[in-house]
Amino acid sequence: MTNRNLINQYLKQTQDIYGDKLYFNFKKDPKYSKVAGYSLDEFHNSIKNCQACQLGATRKSFVFGVGDKNADLLLVGEAPGEKEDMEGIPFVGRAGRLLDKILSAISLSRDSGVYICNVIKCRPPKNRDPLPSEIEKCEPYLKEQINLIKPKLIVALGRVAAKTLLNNDLSLKEMRSVKHNYYGIPLVATYHPAALLRNQNLKPAAWDDFKWIRNLIS
Ligand code: SF4
Repeated sequence: MTNRNLINQYLKQTQDIYGDKLYFNFKKDPKYSKVAGYSLDEFHNSIKNCQACQLGATRKSFVFGVGDKNADLLLVGEAPGEKEDMEGIPFVGRAGRLLDKILSAISLSRDSGVYICNVIKCRPPKNRDPLPSEIEKCEPYLKEQINLIKPKLIVALGRVAAKTLLNNDLSLKEMRSVKHNYYGIPLVATYHPAALLRNQNLKPAAWDDFKWIRNLIS
């Protein structure tokens, strides 16, 4: 059976059980392991030509994600920026380099134990915030990435990622320093590295967050 057929069969079974809302099972469930047993790479290949929202027409690259496919730590940002769109890799450029430095300071790297992606996979023009309709179309892809990676901890980088994953409209300040629960997986929210570049005063609080993150996955 082709990957597309496997995914269609999985979605049809989910629809039969739950109706039109998509729910993902984040614990291994033998009921689905047979039909959902495709890899992260196969899932990537099956969606890389997506045109489900208007951003598909303006992107240069589909930015799926990068890192360790068996990561304990999943970092989720908002959307690709200009450099990410050019290179097809999330978190490159100054913000990405800062993120790499922060990870290195807690003995982690995007090659080992960490996977990095965004809520939406295509760049919004002029780096505007993603529209709710775009997030609605793209979020199922993120959910399936989480389902396949099965991280021990999810970290939302910035308010857009945090409020999307937590399905609320709170400020980042209200969401920080709390261990949330994302379908059974602990989730914490911290500043986006781009915000740390814009406002150096946020760095001590972000550093506290990442030391806590290190402890949570130890
Ligand atoms: S942003 Fe997401 S839903 Fe929209 S075209 Fe890109 S991959 Fe598809």
